[in-house]
Amino acid sequence: MQTEVLPVSEASLARAAERIRNGEIVGFPTETVYGLGANALCAQAVLRIFEAKGRPADNPLIVHVSSVEEIPPLVRGIPQAARKLMEAFWPGPMTLILPKADCIPNAVSAGLDTVGIRLPSCEAARALIRAAGCPIAAPSANRSGRPSPTTAQHVLEDMDGRIPLILDGGPCQVGLESSVIDATGEVPVILRPGGITPEMVQAVLGGVRVDEHVMSPLHEGEVARSPGMKYKHYAPKAHTVIYAGESGRVVSAICARYDEAVRAGERVAILGFDEHDFGGRTCISLGSEAHPEQAAARLFAALRELDERGETLALCEAVDTAGIGLAVMNRMGRAAAFDIVRV
Ligand code: AMP
Ligand code: MG
Repeated sequence: MQTEVLPVSEASLARAAERIRNGEIVGFPTETVYGLGANALCAQAVLRIFEAKGRPADNPLIVHVSSVEEIPPLVRGIPQAARKLMEAFWPGPMTLILPKADCIPNAVSAGLDTVGIRLPSCEAARALIRAAGCPIAAPSANRSGRPSPTTAQHVLEDMDGRIPLILDGGPCQVGLESSVIDATGEVPVILRPGGITPEMVQAVLGGVRVDEHVMSPLHEGEVARSPGMKYKHYAPKAHTVIYAGESGRVVSAICARYDEAVRAGERVAILGFDEHDFGGRTCISLGSEAHPEQAAARLFAALRELDERGETLALCEAVDTAGIGLAVMNRMGRAAAFDIVRV
């Protein structure tokens, strides 16, 4: 199969929508990461997503809509807390877990009786959903286990020959997958952190819990409330280690480990902030320490760059976990299998 990459335009959106109506899958931009979309109401189309990604069948997909009015037929009721979050943060990088209606195929929910719904802010994504005339089920458009794609080029790297069409809408604004929030219980629970932060949810609902597995690995036999959390994700080929602590000590510890590893014949790169001086050692920038949204937008591209350069060891500066920093540390933590050195 030949994979076409087309810039977002009225004509390319119409072409992509037609593909989706025909039961095919397409790559498309959102404000979080690029998605791999199919008609969410067609089980056969949805199965093609799992096939193209090599995604385990027990990892559910998020259903994307272009307006709140499209949601009632997809769910069995919307709790009050969920309504408040929708009003506050949609359109935007937040997925709400809701009880699913029968029209959502089991392939989408991976057999769960709930479904994740999201109303994206990206204009191109909403235009595609409108033009297709159906909700679009879409996970991130990477091959399973690879970092999520934040450019059309990343999608092409992973999906060339596997899908017919990628819409190119430029780099993603947020750069990390959506916050997944279960608002069906008494206290909302953040199952996966993202651009909508615990602080923001707390301000709207007056209470919030963050799932304990956001900053720790899942142990044998434990059940993940957010199935994606149990898979090794975002992992570059390089062995990845995070350094946390006072920044002067972090920089010294990273430089010392770097030099030792280079002497041992490793290919090493640092993922670090612009404010810090690593003395000319190879460093991929996470942007400014004062603006963690830059680290969010750059992290996945940085992890892909490690692979391209053939690095065998990556030494990463930890990010403060306030605000979107929690989402950055969750993804970086999983890339490093939570190997965090505290100095
Ligand atoms: P992706 O779109 O690739 O980022 O993956 C979607 C992720 O959303 C899954 O891996 C799950 O962790 C989460 N998710 C989707 N639907 C549900 C659901 N019904 N319940 C809990 N988590 C979900
Ligand atoms: Mg994903």
